[in-house]
Amino acid sequence: MSATPRVVVIGAGIVGANLADELTARGWDRVTVVDQGPLPLTGGSTSHAPGLVFQTNASRTMTAFAGYTVEKLAGIDVDGAWCFNQVGGLEVATTPERLADLHRKQGWATSWGVESQVVDADECVRLHPLVDRDRILGGLHIPTDGLAKASRAVVALARRAEARGARFQGSTRVTGIEQAGGRVTGVRTPDGVIPADIVVSCAGFWGQELGAMVGMDVPLLPLAHQFVWTGQVPDLVGRNDELSEASLPILRHQDQDLYYRERVDRLGIGSYAHRPMPVDLRELPQGSSEDMDVRESSMPSMLPFTEEDFAPVWEQSQLLLPSLRSSKIDTGFNGIFSFTPDGGPLIGESADVAGFWIAEAVWVTHSAGVARAVAQLLVDGRSEIDLHGCDVHRFEDVQLAPEYVSETSQQNFVEIYDVLHPLQPRLSPRDLRVSPFHARQEQLGAVFLEGGGWERPHWYEANAALVDELPAEWVPPERDAWAAQFWSPIAAAEAWKTRTAVAMYDMTPLKRLEVSGPGALALLQRLTTGEMDKSVGAVTYTLTLDEAGGIRSDLTVARLGEQLFQVGANGPLDLDHLRRQAPDDGSVQIRDTTGGTCCIGLWGPRARDVVRGLTTDDFSNDGLKYFRAKRARIGGVPVTAMRLSYVGELGWEIYTSADNGRRLWDVLWAAGQGHGIVAAGRAAFNSLRLEKGYRAWGHDMTTEHDPYEAGLGFAVRKQKKDDFVGREAVAWMSGDTVSRRLSCLTIDDGRSVVLGHEPVFVDGRPVGYVTSAAFGHTVGRPIAYAWLPASATVGTSVEIEYFGTRIAATVAAEPLVDPDMTRLRG
Ligand SMILES: Cc1cc2nc3c(=O)[nH]c(=O)nc-3n(C[C@H](O)[C@H](O)[C@H](O)COP(=O)(O)OP(=O)(O)OC[C@H]3O[C@@H](n4cnc5c(N)ncnc54)[C@H](O)[C@@H]3O)c2cc1C
Repeated sequence: MSATPRVVVIGAGIVGANLADELTARGWDRVTVVDQGPLPLTGGSTSHAPGLVFQTNASRTMTAFAGYTVEKLAGIDVDGAWCFNQVGGLEVATTPERLADLHRKQGWATSWGVESQVVDADECVRLHPLVDRDRILGGLHIPTDGLAKASRAVVALARRAEARGARFQGSTRVTGIEQAGGRVTGVRTPDGVIPADIVVSCAGFWGQELGAMVGMDVPLLPLAHQFVWTGQVPDLVGRNDELSEASLPILRHQDQDLYYRERVDRLGIGSYAHRPMPVDLRELPQGSSEDMDVRESSMPSMLPFTEEDFAPVWEQSQLLLPSLRSSKIDTGFNGIFSFTPDGGPLIGESADVAGFWIAEAVWVTHSAGVARAVAQLLVDGRSEIDLHGCDVHRFEDVQLAPEYVSETSQQNFVEIYDVLHPLQPRLSPRDLRVSPFHARQEQLGAVFLEGGGWERPHWYEANAALVDELPAEWVPPERDAWAAQFWSPIAAAEAWKTRTAVAMYDMTPLKRLEVSGPGALALLQRLTTGEMDKSVGAVTYTLTLDEAGGIRSDLTVARLGEQLFQVGANGPLDLDHLRRQAPDDGSVQIRDTTGGTCCIGLWGPRARDVVRGLTTDDFSNDGLKYFRAKRARIGGVPVTAMRLSYVGELGWEIYTSADNGRRLWDVLWAAGQGHGIVAAGRAAFNSLRLEKGYRAWGHDMTTEHDPYEAGLGFAVRKQKKDDFVGREAVAWMSGDTVSRRLSCLTIDDGRSVVLGHEPVFVDGRPVGYVTSAAFGHTVGRPIAYAWLPASATVGTSVEIEYFGTRIAATVAAEPLVDPDMTRLRG
């Protein structure tokens, strides 16, 4: 057997220890874990982590990570002492809004396969007798949540990894990353270089320092968070022995940004109620092996307690838990850990230095799951769990600026326990990226939400008067208060105009990549499932797969020249993937052209009337066929027009350079006046795309799904002349081999809108979850796409659980609108 790669893991916290365990479990035995601090209590966040593991999260991936952490830590011990104490988790509600949100959260738990119950106040008190019955309205109980003893788990995992060949080396600070020819070759320490083929930084909140050693942006912010241990609580005396420590469920009081855990006869209290406290690493002890004095009271990750910040929540704690009135704060500290712009962890390999990986901004809760995913990436080349929300390369350039990282990460700290609507945009920073149409959109009263730093109109107040003109069958039903947020009936008017007249959609924020050069065709042939070797002017909807046939992305590739392709992509991960896969002989250039260009989707049955007077180029059915592109002039503006439509109507995506954008908008707008043109936003767009069955990658499908399950088998050319990634895996697949399917549901009552992530039941059993949803204005009823067992064929009755109530729905044949494509091809 050939030797496995030499891996150096930087950081012996819960993430590094888990990674060493996962790698050695897969037979990689040349693993060295180094830490600047002494072992096993290194002084990092793990050393003092109170270890509450609440598994349920809006993200399926994060919940799966947590589930694996529970399973794994429950199965290890140190000389019989537990690493996971499954006391259960209880989140209490003191407001009706929170109680409703706990129902929503229970929906996520059900969707992701975690057992849970929303319980009444009496049951909360039975589960946690310290809670004041009169303060609460109910709670969410998750029996499999509990306490991780993170520092002990590190010992257990290190022992297991060492038994399989790993080495743990404390008091060794990494001061540099050695590299040659664009690859890591080792890590530098004061004692010399440790050679390595792969380096994984699991340095927690020190992550930016390590990233800087290879010129990698690591968008995390170290923040302090207050935690105290109380003195003895009389009502807890005698409940627990020293070994078991706790028997009450871990407790969250999110309305006051607080959480609690038991330790023998004391409570630990964590608070997010205070001001964000960013930490400058330069002010922490440097942590070199010579000068670092790591005792529990002087760890670099523990800052002195600021009592004044805790005073208000101590009062709040005594209100929720009256027993605390007979106790006091014994010790407290401001502990440091990492926050990120979107709250997700940071996983991935440097774009510039091969073999340098990071796994940072990871809670104890997700540590084993993240480590398993990283080990799978390293050993197998792919993670079984979708990682797109965790990939360090998911951010746009502008989101890597220190100011952005700092502001958004602090905001995440503030909002950590807030009830947040899925569409809720951040209030600041805004106006980071605007399209050339922005001034015009503002004039039309655009209501902007934010995505990838872009301002994106969701609807236009200028269209408000059209709501009164809506034909009866287009008038949308009233929405419940939650679903009505960040929505307007104006979206119905914009959808109506798109289907009956013509609308302009700003498609600028959709990522555009230019792939060019003598090797461009070969690269795209190898990475995509479609035939790319078509005539200039061809446009192809295609997929990129991983080796196992999972969907990495879906792309729209336009061949604009023999060696020139425009790729419509989903985001920064596509750019990262293409760049990594490109040959390094200079035969392919890949450029992100999104910011320097812009795009209007001009769609609707009267789209042709709008361009007719503006161009001498042939925009007739034969002049520009469906899924063809050509260069043209519209109102004098040089454009590339592509005959495509995400909304399922006749029309084009019309691209031009950013400088020409406003003129393009103006000429189309002026010419459209006689044809009922409107500007339309994302709310209408999302409804129309679902009516046409167009999938959104990252929402509807990910690497966890194959093309046939996702209903995208049509985009796979198995007989394509060139080989492509994933071909072997999909060779045996077809629509008949699938056991689950992305299915279209319509809501039976014609009015109850759901928003996504809700569980779906068949015969009373949870069998799947909603991925995307919208009210279908053309079909006059709400639509939801959901993953369901393949046995749930068209006509099957299902129920969707929304805030604790069940809504009847039916599996429908898709697409719901224009299945014969006459509108698009007409
Ligand atoms: C007060 C508090 C309460 C928390 N409560 C919870 C909770 O209840 N549940 C939960 O899930 N999470 C909780 N967390 C978060 C959790 O503790 C951390 O997210 C987690 O421990 C991070 O683990 P890690 O292995 O990534 O980082 P760490 O444990 O910080 O390990 C990183 C290691 O890298 C080492 N290192 C850094 N730079 C270098 C270098 N140059 N050379 C060598 N070694 C280096 C450090 O010494 C450190 O040991 C809490 C955090 C705090 C501060």
